[in-house]
Amino acid sequence: MLSNTDIAELLAQQAETETGIRVRAFRRAARSAFLWPEEVSDLLAQNRSLTELRSIGPFIEKQIRQWIAEPRRSKTPPEIRRDFLSLAEARRLLATRPDWPRKLRGDLQMHTRWSDGSGTLAEMADAAATRSYEYIAITDHSKGLKIAGGIDEVELERQAAEIAKVNAALSKSTPHVTVLRSIEMNLNPRGEGDMSPESMQSLDLVLGSFHSALRKTEDQTDRYLAAVRNPHVQILGHPRGRIYNFRLGLTADWPRVFAEAARLDKALEIDCYPDRQDLNIALLKIARDHGTRISLGTDAHHGWQLEFIDLGLAAALRAKIPADRIINFMPVLELKAWANCVRDRTMRKE
Ligand SMILES: [Zn+2]
Repeated sequence: MLSNTDIAELLAQQAETETGIRVRAFRRAARSAFLWPEEVSDLLAQNRSLTELRSIGPFIEKQIRQWIAEPRRSKTPPEIRRDFLSLAEARRLLATRPDWPRKLRGDLQMHTRWSDGSGTLAEMADAAATRSYEYIAITDHSKGLKIAGGIDEVELERQAAEIAKVNAALSKSTPHVTVLRSIEMNLNPRGEGDMSPESMQSLDLVLGSFHSALRKTEDQTDRYLAAVRNPHVQILGHPRGRIYNFRLGLTADWPRVFAEAARLDKALEIDCYPDRQDLNIALLKIARDHGTRISLGTDAHHGWQLEFIDLGLAAALRAKIPADRIINFMPVLELKAWANCVRDRTMRKE
């Protein structure tokens, strides 16, 4: 029986043979397949229509039914589409280990209207409360990423006031949730950030990410070593910079990068956004062997997208990351203490 990931690959391959508007329709359906909450095979077994699923109209439904009726082996996906989990698969995996998702206390990457997100800060906090989280980190883009509406030091201060207000309201309605002050600081290819060190010092956590020169094919180890050694960064966001069916991401001497992160006690992220899933499982296994800390962030741009966390939880479980290496499993005070400790340690070395 074809799984949703098999169907995604067939849809992506079909897109390559189509012309006109169908190219986009099949490409969109391929991406959406990773978000379908149930396996297509289960829907069919229950005589349900596939048009319940995101991006599936009658035409694509007919095509999928045809593939299932005459099963042929889907080709191995090319690297640009390989090693992505579907939400249906992730949930099946997590259901086998209910103790694992229960350890999760929060989400450490999301965007709001302060940069390119579509939800307000209060809406993201509500979504976190609904999921019974203990904390979320607000990581809007920093000023260097103009295309995503990055914010400068002054706006970051103004955001602090709004976070304080939201936290005050939460302490009355849902006292279990805290909104942490963070940022997704843009790193240049030399691993340097674009914000003043003083303003980074005022945050609970700093996530640093590369958003430029992501199509280089030469080894990028030096760039990664510089980023993990950046004294103002505690978490390296979406490390490879890969995007499903769009960009392969960078390469590096990963064992060296993970070993250096472990030495400095820094975390590398699993960006759980379905198109990213970065780190992926193959790299997570290397991280596990080096004892590197892992951070889970959905990169949500809207409240409902907090559900993407299941993709990261499942990837970490499949890669057998020990629970004590996942920073989102720490209570909020311990998480803050870790960030401060990492900060002090790398500052002293500067
Ligand atoms: Zn980013």
